[in-house]
Amino acid sequence: MSHLMNTYARLPIAFSHGEGSWLTDTEGRRYLDALAGIAVNTLGHNHPTLVAAIAAQAGRILHSSNLYRIPQQEQLADKLATLAAMDEVFFCNSGCEANEAAIKLARLYGHQQGVDSPAIVVMEQAFHGRTMATLSATGNRKAQAGFEPLVSGFVRVRYNDLEAIQAIARSNKKIVAVMLEIVQGEGGVNIADVGFQRGLRALCDERDWLLICDEVQCGTGRTGRWFAFQHADVLPDVVTLAKGLGGGVPIGACLTAGKATGLFKPGNHGSTFGGNQLATTAALTTIAVIEKDRLIEHAVAVGGLIREGLAQALAGRKGVVDIRGQGLMIGIELDRPCGELVTRALAAGLLINVTADKVVRLLPPLTFSADEARELVSRLAKLIGDFLAA
Ligand SMILES: *Cc1c(COP(=O)(O)O)cnc(C)c1O
Repeated sequence: MSHLMNTYARLPIAFSHGEGSWLTDTEGRRYLDALAGIAVNTLGHNHPTLVAAIAAQAGRILHSSNLYRIPQQEQLADKLATLAAMDEVFFCNSGCEANEAAIKLARLYGHQQGVDSPAIVVMEQAFHGRTMATLSATGNRKAQAGFEPLVSGFVRVRYNDLEAIQAIARSNKKIVAVMLEIVQGEGGVNIADVGFQRGLRALCDERDWLLICDEVQCGTGRTGRWFAFQHADVLPDVVTLAKGLGGGVPIGACLTAGKATGLFKPGNHGSTFGGNQLATTAALTTIAVIEKDRLIEHAVAVGGLIREGLAQALAGRKGVVDIRGQGLMIGIELDRPCGELVTRALAAGLLINVTADKVVRLLPPLTFSADEARELVSRLAKLIGDFLAA
């Protein structure tokens, strides 16, 4: 009997080591990794530069506390501010914590605007995390069930429905922010329309609301820009990051610009581990490798190969509803629940994910090669073809 809490329906397999886009299990079987630990292993596995940087940092100092200055944290904040065109950064350890910081910021902002019980507009099918506030912001009733009372102060609308938000703006004077994923991950790889994003920016400016982009999954180069909001040239007031930022080492970040900047004062918020030397070194190194190896341009090219390859291989196949995505964040929507594709893929030496019941989700490392993309397409097209034929 395991002493682990039963929070995950785990597959009966454990990995002993990895190399690039390949993982080896404890029985010696190899798998092509098209999931990267859910968009975490940005540089694949066992990347020599990342391993060396982490090892060297571990040999000097792992953690000192935010009671002192941490030069690596200051450097990483500078770097992220430059890449995202934002002003300030708060560091934490995960995506939900980055979103908690964003939600607290929005409330503080609201109170400063004279709104006593500020509310945030959030989206259907959104995923923002599992803490009480982020679970309440999440647009999935199944994830929330049993955990009521939820945190109040969220108003939900359909994704990509600007008119609904404009209507709320006219009737609800408590709104202080809109929070969304530019590409919804858990919700099924749904992409925000450019018009929706620009309309939201205009509405937030007009109403003095904060535009909060949760880029925990779609950020850090994954969609073929450093941040997904850059596709539409829309600058948010708050951006949250985590998953891929540390290349596998836990780190989260909440970035602010303009009117969202300077809200927290000492005592308002904090994190014991947040931004420690180990985590910020891992993130600085991950970003440096992305830049040096031009992995963002690479993600565009290889993501294109995968989407086009699948479109060709599955052309005319009844049951394939849509193949969509940006860069290396890809969804293949089928007309039926397809969770069992995960175990079928495992048997075929391939790591993939199914989300929102009917969407095969691919989140390979940004280092995924063109050859690996072709291998992925051929294995996955066969799996999907056989599944739909059965
Ligand atoms: C995974 C995810 C989160 C939660 O991140 P954790 O590190 O698991 O807390 C929040 N938002 C989005 C968009 C995510 O994909």
